[in-house]
Amino acid sequence: MNSVGENIIRKLDMRQLRSEFPILHQTVNGRQLVYFDNAATTQKPQRVLDALESYYREYNSNIHRGLHTLAEKATSTFELSRKKAAEFINAPEIEEVIFTKGTTEGINLVAQTYGRKNFKKGDEIIITGMEHHSNIVPWQMIAEEKGAVLKIIPVSGRGEIDIEDFKKLISDKTRIVSLAFASNALGTVNPVKEVIEIAHSAGALVMIDGAQAAPHLSIDVQDLDCDFFAFSAHKMYGPTGVGVLYGKRVLLENMPPYQGGGEMIRQVTFKKTTYNDIPYKFEAGTPNIGDVIAFDESIDFILEHGRNSIAAHEEELIQFAHEKSKEIEDLVIYGEAAHKVSVFSFLINGVHPLDLGTMLDAQGIAVRTGHHCAQPLMDAFKIDGTVRASFGVYNTREEIQIMFDAIREIIKKLKK
Ligand code: PMP
Repeated sequence: MNSVGENIIRKLDMRQLRSEFPILHQTVNGRQLVYFDNAATTQKPQRVLDALESYYREYNSNIHRGLHTLAEKATSTFELSRKKAAEFINAPEIEEVIFTKGTTEGINLVAQTYGRKNFKKGDEIIITGMEHHSNIVPWQMIAEEKGAVLKIIPVSGRGEIDIEDFKKLISDKTRIVSLAFASNALGTVNPVKEVIEIAHSAGALVMIDGAQAAPHLSIDVQDLDCDFFAFSAHKMYGPTGVGVLYGKRVLLENMPPYQGGGEMIRQVTFKKTTYNDIPYKFEAGTPNIGDVIAFDESIDFILEHGRNSIAAHEEELIQFAHEKSKEIEDLVIYGEAAHKVSVFSFLINGVHPLDLGTMLDAQGIAVRTGHHCAQPLMDAFKIDGTVRASFGVYNTREEIQIMFDAIREIIKKLKK
């Protein structure tokens, strides 16, 4: 159902594609910018910027409650974004798509509504050892409140989970399994479909943190059969402050609201309030209208270039980075899973990651250094952090070559 030529793999026209991103065409510290921090946030194409500006210039209005022309246009355009987001993940029903401010809010919403209503003392929640803090802390908070127990699937030296370890942890006490589709710190793509099947046969629900999957992989929540799926627009060439929580209708309908306020109600009296239908029950207050509208353009950007074509391009980039890294003796890769997205995490023996990050920045190369909001994973590897180069659709082999040439020069200088 999803868009134009999605199954065909085409070579991306990099000149044309890069020309869609105004921010890329600048020098930073005297050099052409090389932007390798896409796992933190991606850059936005002109069409996303235009959509945002056009909303504020031409039809800025609050949605759902207005009868006037501008309000109707804002409402219908906002709701078109919901339809597009539903198609993007192949959600069976548009009402199962809730707009949030990002993945973090989606996970907190499920923990604080489903979890608060259903978890009890001794229940178990399973996550993996490679989760982002936003898929750890919300579960810790609700576990503490309810007396539930958090169980962790260990991560191997290569950065993978073993399904056999998961099978040992799951039991009839497990209420929910929540895991990343793809790890932001290592790039690992987890076997989520297998996890979902096993969890369901044990009677547990599954929440997928799709923050790093949405920009790189095709997502079909019906095929996965996940119960909840959260992702963020800003990691997929869309604006910040917008995300989606997908949930199965029957679950969402039985969950209490997350926040109280306007829009989420049907009727309010001082005696009793009744709640609106999904998705509005979970969207209290004025949402981030302009950014939701612009999000639609970023989905179209991905679909028009084709998810398979984007994935093939990024696969080539990550393979090239792995190949190049072999030429640097002191380089240690973190994350060597058989299936990974375009995240290249590494350390150079004898060079502090912060120093390397700073020296790369001095040459216009933007990478991220540190724990990548995955401190328990760093603890398991007995390191403080890594240097992470994460590639997006507009990155090229030439840019990777520039980074490795710069790394070689830095090592030479530091080890003199
Ligand atoms: N999960 C993963 C795997 C992530 O990479 C991120 C963002 N780095 C998040 C969750 C949180 O996303 P956001 O900050 O957009 O809410």
